Parts: sequence; structure tokens; C-alpha cells
Amino acid sequence: MTAQLIDGVALSRQLREGFAQRVAALKARGTTPGLAVVLVGDDAASQVYVRNKVKACGDVGMHSVLERYPATLTEAELLARVEALNQDPAIHGILVQLPLPPHMDAQRVIETISPAKDVDGFHVASAGALMVGQPGFWPCTPHGCLRMLDHIGMDLRGKHAVVIGRSNIVGKPMALMLLQRSATVTICHSATPNLKAHTLQADVVVAAVGKRNLLTADMVKPGAVVIDVGMNRDPEGKLCGDVDFEGVKEVASWITPVPGGVGPMTITMLLANTLESAEKA
Ligand code: NAP
Repeated sequence: MTAQLIDGVALSRQLREGFAQRVAALKARGTTPGLAVVLVGDDAASQVYVRNKVKACGDVGMHSVLERYPATLTEAELLARVEALNQDPAIHGILVQLPLPPHMDAQRVIETISPAKDVDGFHVASAGALMVGQPGFWPCTPHGCLRMLDHIGMDLRGKHAVVIGRSNIVGKPMALMLLQRSATVTICHSATPNLKAHTLQADVVVAAVGKRNLLTADMVKPGAVVIDVGMNRDPEGKLCGDVDFEGVKEVASWITPVPGGVGPMTITMLLANTLESAEKA
């Protein structure tokens, strides 16, 4: 079997066309959705991510500001900036790009963002809302994965989903979203013995680890759906995921590529959250 591709670029394009129309409707009523992206320090990958996020806002007609600060910024100064953005009526979403310099407490910074503007979905209020099934912003990467599963018409009810990775920004919220859809969910992590025994049972595997070739063809049940969140570099320096794409595509029914899979969907869901925040405001 050769798996069908879940094309994150094409799905993003389709969703963003809809967003552009909603932005235009809001603008006609006098509100331009606005996202503030705050970058501290000069991490090379972060610079690329924030540039892509700001560009995506512009492409759908949203307002965005990119605030860049040197790594010498104090935590108190950053918190003051976040407080100011909380009060700014032109800003509906605030994103502080992680990682922050080591002298800053990232969770304290995130907790300073107003939950009403927490479009990354990392605030404990957002995490708690997801946990108990209340409305709130969902973290963009797992939400993007869920939209991809919806796009292929996957009915998750009663299916066995295996999430590899338990971070607060991907693995754990992914598991909660799948659970909310009535999947039976297994979460694997670095202390899980015999990962393969779990993944072989899965109708859906979400790999969110950050290790190239973590999931190989012999670990996948024929016909399973495989979502690859990982972002790694191969020995030639090319971007790749956690999944051995060439091997696994011969076993899976659907698979996401890297690049062109979850990455663009993450930014798309950031736009979705910012738009939703502006519509509520
Ligand atoms: P993270 O915080 O480093 O978490 C990685 C998780 O993988 C941890 O829970 C860890 O377990 C687990 N793990 C490590 N080795 C393992 C193994 N051998 N078997 C099973 N589990 C193992 O990373 P993250 O922030 O969740 O990101 C995961 C990957 O997704 C990274 O490559 C990141 O770059 C990528 N990512 C992509 C996007 C996108 O938009 N495409 C967005 C976010 C992240 P422990 O908890 O036990 O340590």
C-alpha cells in the first residue's frame, strides 16, 4: 500500500481563504484582527518562525506587530511589555516566542498573557479549559493535527490513538483532543519500554518527539494514519520529521509529510485563534 498524503500546505491554503473573508467582514465592521509576536534574543530558528507567523497574518489581511528585544532584556521588562499588550485594543492575540533566554521563567511570562489573548493556548487557564472541555484557545500544533484528521474524514470514536511525546505544547494537549473525540488514547514517552508494542496497536499515531526515524515501518499497523509533528535535520541538513517517511508510507493509509504537513497547519491554527479572539472582542 502507498499511503495518501495529508497535504498541510493545501489544507492551510483552503482554510486561510476562509479566514481572509472573515477578516474582511470584521474590517468592514471597524475591527482589524491583530497579533503581537514578541521575540527575545536571536535564536536562528525562532527568527524564521516569527517571520513566517507575521507574514501569514499579512497574507489574510490581519494586523501584526513583531517586537524584538535583545537577550539582555530583563524578565520584569518583558512582563511589562506583555501587560501593555494585554491593554492594547488593537491586539487580539499575544505570542511570546519560545524558548526564552535562560534567565527568564517562561511559564511566568505565559501566565502574564491575558487568557483572552492567549492564542498559543499555553496559559494554565487555556490548558485547564481543554482539560475540562470548556471553551478556550487550543494549542496550535495539536489543533492543526486534529484538523488534518477531520479533513480526511477520520471518525476517531472508538479508535486507538497513540501519541508519542508528552510535552505541554504538543503531546499532552494532542492526547486530550483525541480523548475528547472518544478515541482510546495511549501516551508514550522516553520512559516507555517497547514503544513498538504500543504503536503496532494504533489506528492513529502522532509522533511528537524530535528524533529522526523514531517511527519506522515495522512499528506501524497496516492502514494506520500517521501524523508527523517532529522537526529534525537529516545528515544532509534537510528538514525531516520523526517518521521514516519512505518506509512508513508503504504501510500507512494516510501520512503527513515534513516539510509541508503539520508545520503550516500550526500557523494556520494561530491565525484561527487570533481571528476568533478578534471576533469575540
Ligand atoms: P519536547 O518538549 O522535547 O518533548 C519531546 C517528547 O518526546 C517528550 O515527552 C519525551 O519524553 C519524548 N521522547 C523523547 N525520546 C523519546 C523516545 N525515544 N520514545 C518516546 N518518546 C520520547 O518536544 P515538543 O516541543 O513536544 O516537540 C516535539 C517535536 O515536534 C520537535 O521535533 C519539535 O521541533 C516539533 N514541533 C513541531 C511543530 C510544528 O509546527 N511542526 C510545533 C511544535 C513542535 P519525556 O517527557 O519522557 O522526556
